Amino acid sequence: MEKQVLFTIFGATGDLASRKLYPSLFRLFKRGELAENFAVIGTARRPWTDDYYREIVLASISSLSNDKRQAELFTNHFYYQSHDVSDSGHYATLKVLGEKLASQYQTRGNQIFFLAMAPRFFGNIAQHLKSEKVLTGKGFERIVIEKPFGESLSTATELNDSLRQVFDESQIFRIDHYLGKEMIQSVSAVRFANPIFEALWSNQYIDNIQITFAEAIGVEDRGGYYDGSGALKDMIQNHVLQVLSLLAMEKPVKFDGDSILAEKVKALQAIRKYSHEEAKESFIRGQYVSAKFDGQDFIGYRSEPKVAEDSRTETFVAGKFLIDNERWAGVPFYVRSGKRLTEKGTRINVVFKNESNPLFENVQQNVLTIYIQPTEGFSLTVNGKQAGSGFEIDPLRLAFRHDAEYFGNSPEAYETLFLDALNGNSMNFSHWEEAKRAWELIDVVREAWDSDSSELPEYPAGSMGPIASFKLLEKDGRSWNWKP
Ligand code: NAD
Repeated sequence: MEKQVLFTIFGATGDLASRKLYPSLFRLFKRGELAENFAVIGTARRPWTDDYYREIVLASISSLSNDKRQAELFTNHFYYQSHDVSDSGHYATLKVLGEKLASQYQTRGNQIFFLAMAPRFFGNIAQHLKSEKVLTGKGFERIVIEKPFGESLSTATELNDSLRQVFDESQIFRIDHYLGKEMIQSVSAVRFANPIFEALWSNQYIDNIQITFAEAIGVEDRGGYYDGSGALKDMIQNHVLQVLSLLAMEKPVKFDGDSILAEKVKALQAIRKYSHEEAKESFIRGQYVSAKFDGQDFIGYRSEPKVAEDSRTETFVAGKFLIDNERWAGVPFYVRSGKRLTEKGTRINVVFKNESNPLFENVQQNVLTIYIQPTEGFSLTVNGKQAGSGFEIDPLRLAFRHDAEYFGNSPEAYETLFLDALNGNSMNFSHWEEAKRAWELIDVVREAWDSDSSELPEYPAGSMGPIASFKLLEKDGRSWNWKP
């Protein structure tokens, strides 16, 4: 059914708004979720006119429609307001425009604020929305914010406190775009809709779980941001731990946001918090250096634009988490994420135990692989008999894997997230309790590394990370399971 809502996008001239937000809103428009009763106010510092803003929005959706009239009908709902986030007067102007559009488009006072800007502005914006009475309490009022949510437990707490002075937790939607991905949602389906997996989902049958978020690209034009962050904060604190908690959680009472959240938080709480010494043992880092790969010359991280020449920022992390509860005691969760790796791929490997087999030789471990990006699907390696007259065990792979774009119905992550925010469904957003626990776990690793001045391990661009990453598993008698 058509939604009634006024969106206000802070950071409307930015990269995120053009690449993700406008195309996602347009997809919702094409599906009829947005039709007559919606309006969008774009704000940023630049002095744009409505017409110019509409041209920008039009350009951002050009690949999604050949129907010029439809695209124009959509962009006619967009309005631009030049705005500096710390200028109170600008919020008064915003309020007037918002009220005018609310009555023109009959949005019932429903408002969604999307903060596509640096997090240092979030608190300031929230405070002004309240003090300048942009928030009216007439309809639903929700705020959607992008990562990163803080840079440590203390900065995240500060940020959260400033938002919570204005919004309830139920009104705050913290994006973790991997949670919006279809396949992450299907992790739950694979686990809980299949007795053959659900029955085996514990330390009794699972040897270890591996989560890889590999990127083939380098830092591109985001060196300025990335150099102040690094892979640990950029990927492990949020995406990787979210996926881990979905894999490790107990079965929720119901498949709804609150029930799933409760179980995810419990799983995160059960992850062992390391001492600094243990963190150094269990986590390794690396930085990519120049190399030739696939016929191409790649520069090293320190030569990337806007990256310090002597940067010690890690572009790769591998680590081991342990979960101290009955289900997972003794099962390591290995995680890794990095830039400039051999190939792009987000996947989960559930490696089953392989006790010595009295009947056959060469029996391989069963591995359930869940592919998240760029292909979606799963595969299961099983042991079969090699064709022919002899008797040899032959591992084979049952696979269902398709290109995420292939079916055309795999909704873009931001589209799902917008729809969820419109419906007040927080299942695919991260909650404060999760962010808080994730920071507690990550801060220890960061502190351990920051107090260690030894050389940063290197890895050649195009490889799967530094040698230390392979050694991390080798010392446990295991190896990364990664097949093309
Ligand atoms: P950007 O630099 O392209 O855009 C920032 C926007 O903020 C611009 O519209 C700018 O005009 C506006 N702005 C800056 N200072 C302002 C001020 N004082 N008053 C009013 N407006 C001001 O950044 P981006 O890449 O669009 O990213 C926005 C946020 O989203 C960041 O927090 C980033 O970490 C996060 N993010 C971006 C991406 C992405 O794909 N670009 C992905 C994940 C997260």
